[in-house]
Amino acid sequence: MTEARTDPAAEASPGAGVSIPDAVRAFRVAHRARHIGPRYHGWLHFGTTTVGALAAIIVAAVMVDAPSLAELAAVPLSFLLANLGEYAGHRGPMHHRRRGLSILFERHARQHHRFYTHDAMAAESPRDFQMVLFPPAMLVFFLGALAFPIGALLHWAVSPNVGWLFGATAMTYFVTYEWLHFAYHLPPDGWVGRRRLVQILRRHHTLHHDQRRMAHTNFNITFPIADWLFGTIGAPARESRDQGAAEPLPASGAGSSE
Ligand SMILES: [Zn+2]
Ligand SMILES: [Zn+2]
Repeated sequence: MTEARTDPAAEASPGAGVSIPDAVRAFRVAHRARHIGPRYHGWLHFGTTTVGALAAIIVAAVMVDAPSLAELAAVPLSFLLANLGEYAGHRGPMHHRRRGLSILFERHARQHHRFYTHDAMAAESPRDFQMVLFPPAMLVFFLGALAFPIGALLHWAVSPNVGWLFGATAMTYFVTYEWLHFAYHLPPDGWVGRRRLVQILRRHHTLHHDQRRMAHTNFNITFPIADWLFGTIGAPARESRDQGAAEPLPASGAGSSE
C-alpha cells in the first residue's frame, strides 16, 4: 500500500484524491499500471464515444420522414425498453458471472466497483475515465449487435419510420448513459458535478457503489424508472436491511481477470 502514496495521477489532481481509502488507492494504482496504457487519453475516449454516437443519432434522425403520431410513440416506448434493458443488464451479467458475458462481470463488478466506491467516486485524472466509459468497441457492439438489428426488424415489420426512430432513441439513450455515468464520476465540486440533476442522480448511483449494497439496489444508472418498478431503490428504510443481507466482494484479484 505504500506505493499508493506516490501515485502520480493522484498527486496531479487537486482535491480529487482527498480521503480515498487505502484499499481503493492500492487497487487504482494496480489497475492503472496493468490496464491503462501510456497512449490512453481520457478526453479522446470521451470525444470518440460522443462523436460516434451523435453521428449515428443524426443519420437515424434524418431518415425519419413525416412520422405519424402512432409512429412517434416508438420514442417513449424505445426509451422505456432501453431503461429496462439497462436495469436487466446491470442487475444480471454485470453483477453475476454469465457464460459468454463474463467480460461484463469482470469489467463492472470486479473492476469499476473497486476502482470507484461510495466513498471514492471521483476520477483523479482524465486517465481514470478508462474505468468509467465503455471501450469504443462497445459503441460498435451497441450499433451492430443491438440497435441495428432491432431497428432493421422494426423497419421491415412495422414501418421504416419506427425502425429509424428506435435507432435514434436507442443511441440517444446510450450516449445519455455514458454522459451521466461519466458525470457521477467527475469531482462533485466541478461545474458538471454541481448541476442539480447530476447531484440527484449521483446520489442514487453512489449508494449502488457501496459494495455491501451493489448486488441489491439502484441498478438504473440513468433514470431510476425500472428500480422504482421492481422495488430496488435503496430507500433509507430498506438500506439497513440490505446492509445486513448483502455480501462484500472478495478482497483478492485486484484489477484482474480470472
Ligand atoms: Zn459507476
Ligand atoms: Zn454495478
